[in-house]
Amino acid sequence: MRNLKELTRPNIWKLSPYSSARDEYSGHDAHVFLDANENPYNNPLNRYPDPLQHELKALLAKRKQVKEEQIFLGNGSDEPIDLFYRCFTQPGIDNVVAMEPTYGMYRVCADINDVEYRPVLLDHNYQMSAQKMLNACDRYTKFIWICSPNNPTGNLIDEEEILKILKEFDGLVIVDEAYADFSRHRTMRSQLDDHPNLIVLNTMSKAWGCAGIRLGMAFAQPDIIQIMNKVKYPYNVNILTQEKAIEMLKSPILVEEWVRTLLLERERMIAAFSQLPICKKIFPTDANFFLTRVSDAQAIYDYLVGRGIIVRNRTRVQLCADCLRITIGTKTENSQLLSALRQY
Ligand SMILES: *Cc1c(COP(=O)(O)O)cnc(C)c1O
Repeated sequence: MRNLKELTRPNIWKLSPYSSARDEYSGHDAHVFLDANENPYNNPLNRYPDPLQHELKALLAKRKQVKEEQIFLGNGSDEPIDLFYRCFTQPGIDNVVAMEPTYGMYRVCADINDVEYRPVLLDHNYQMSAQKMLNACDRYTKFIWICSPNNPTGNLIDEEEILKILKEFDGLVIVDEAYADFSRHRTMRSQLDDHPNLIVLNTMSKAWGCAGIRLGMAFAQPDIIQIMNKVKYPYNVNILTQEKAIEMLKSPILVEEWVRTLLLERERMIAAFSQLPICKKIFPTDANFFLTRVSDAQAIYDYLVGRGIIVRNRTRVQLCADCLRITIGTKTENSQLLSALRQY
């Protein structure tokens, strides 16, 4: 791996971050806080949140089997996705490589940051070739995007191929595991200590049922996390979000039940869906959705909208002609979709 200084945007490497009142005070037990111009009334929302979210990170460290210093928390995964560009790329000069098709935010944030985005087509089974990805890199490539299980295709990416990239690429490798809670395959977090260039993304938006609180996580070596902490807004994760996330982590049984139920529903849906005359193919999935090729994606999408049922039309995505992406809902919702399609 190139050293981190070489990979970091030069002004960011030199940056002295904003020092908030809560950063400057630490140590002694204090009970009178007159340092941050807060209103003394309306406890607890009158206080600024912990900028580094220590209590939440302690719980996450246990749950995710990493050290607290290996965790970055942001306003959804959207925040770390954007921060990677702001920390590690120079606009107009550097580039990033990503598998295609994949999650759209990687490209949008590249465009916002004026960084060249180099998509590398997956094969017809939606698998990634490490060699093709490596061939797309040059000395201005700062990081590589891998999404596993992938969105919108649903499949896991072959771990051997990911490991090959981790070994052979000298920049950062970001593996987005937003859907890993639905997969029985081991997570790449277990590889963090062996690969200093690895960054893993998780979120509370999917299996944890908390898309509304906006909490995304990045796991990486502490030197990478420190650079991200320097650039983020000082109070990027608000108190309500931190409190709700702590509450969720203290009762993980609920999440495990949701996952079990959704996986059973996914099997039921796939079995029933594949019997529909409109269904041409269902692609393998390790996530809480499946991608299906149908007779006419646009017409079926429009028909479903007319019945008040919204799925995701992916027909204009590369390799996804006539494909719909269908999220697993409650048993009732899933049955409504099936019965609407039986009447199509
Ligand atoms: C849904 C999703 C996320 C989650 O984004 P948040 O900003 O955390 O809600 C991240 N990555 C992928 C690939 C996703 O599909």
